[in-house]
Amino acid sequence: FSKMEYATRRIERYALQEVARSILREMVERNGKMTYVHQVRNCLRAKITKQKGVTLFYNVEREQANFGNLQRCYSVWNCPICSMTITEGRRTELKQGLANWTDLGGHAYLVTFTNSHHRGDNLGDLLQGQKKAFKKFWEKTKVVKMLKRLGYQGRIVATEVTWGEQNGWHPHYHMIFFFDHEVDPNGIQSFLALEWQDACIKAGLKAPDLIHGVDVRNGTYAAKYVSKWGLEDEVTKGHLKKGLNGSLTPFDLLRGASANNHFKTLFKEFADVFKGKQQLVWSKGLKDLLGIEQMTDEELIEETEKTSIEIRELGDLIWQLVLKYEKRAHVLELVERDYKNGTNSLDDFIMGLAHIHAGEMIRNSS
Ligand SMILES: [Zn+2]
Repeated sequence: FSKMEYATRRIERYALQEVARSILREMVERNGKMTYVHQVRNCLRAKITKQKGVTLFYNVEREQANFGNLQRCYSVWNCPICSMTITEGRRTELKQGLANWTDLGGHAYLVTFTNSHHRGDNLGDLLQGQKKAFKKFWEKTKVVKMLKRLGYQGRIVATEVTWGEQNGWHPHYHMIFFFDHEVDPNGIQSFLALEWQDACIKAGLKAPDLIHGVDVRNGTYAAKYVSKWGLEDEVTKGHLKKGLNGSLTPFDLLRGASANNHFKTLFKEFADVFKGKQQLVWSKGLKDLLGIEQMTDEELIEETEKTSIEIRELGDLIWQLVLKYEKRAHVLELVERDYKNGTNSLDDFIMGLAHIHAGEMIRNSS
């Protein structure tokens, strides 16, 4: 991405995070203390160490500024900022894993599982049903035997969900299947579709038809999917939506939330149901097989701060003003600009905030 694209994207991420936190206000009691159900409420806002200010860092290698001493939520589902960093790291692992496998002479296929769903279906119930269906599916002797015969070595499962006006929630699964030799996508699709349909019926789910339940595509599609994974909502659709029609990602719901209260309800339902769920699951032993050492979500986030130099610290009053006026992305931009151009625009900006604050104090007291 160009610098400009990165900057506009970041502004949008911070704005969407504000929307997410305005929707996810719920609190619970934990160990006698009230805390937020969703940590995105505090993400990149509340400090870690009270004794220190908020730190501004600059990463010379990436030419990017970032914050230090702020809590993070590490949510890939409901935090547009954390999810960007985490999916970026995960995408690198996916790409590397796939490349290592094909270098070894292996083959990979993109396999998508869906089932029928209708407007009004409860998202939690759908997921629960699918979980049950997958358990039955993977336990089927026929499936196990057939895959073994074809040289199946494992899979990576990516869980995704969209919402559409017509058919409601659509949780679905994109999987990369790894085989040690080539298989016929059409043949395996017919076989899997039949078994998947059967598993859905046994799990009490609305059964998919044999054409739509399972889709198998060759390695080219697997590589394309992996290279775009987690970027989907931006790269393929772009920023300017045609009226937010069709199938919407959860972040699309956030984009439309200010004009549509129903989207707020939907986003909350999504966030509650997906809380704590894993976005990407590698089957047992696959990481070793593909030579991937996976980092934790926390490590991926910290990685971006590792090689950074400290620029300055912001006092509590200034930080509160930055939050109040929703200027977090702007502050990062100024740090980057100043570092590159040797300017002092951040100082000017902070002075400006202080003046506005002083003016407000005077007006409020008179
Ligand atoms: Zn976050």
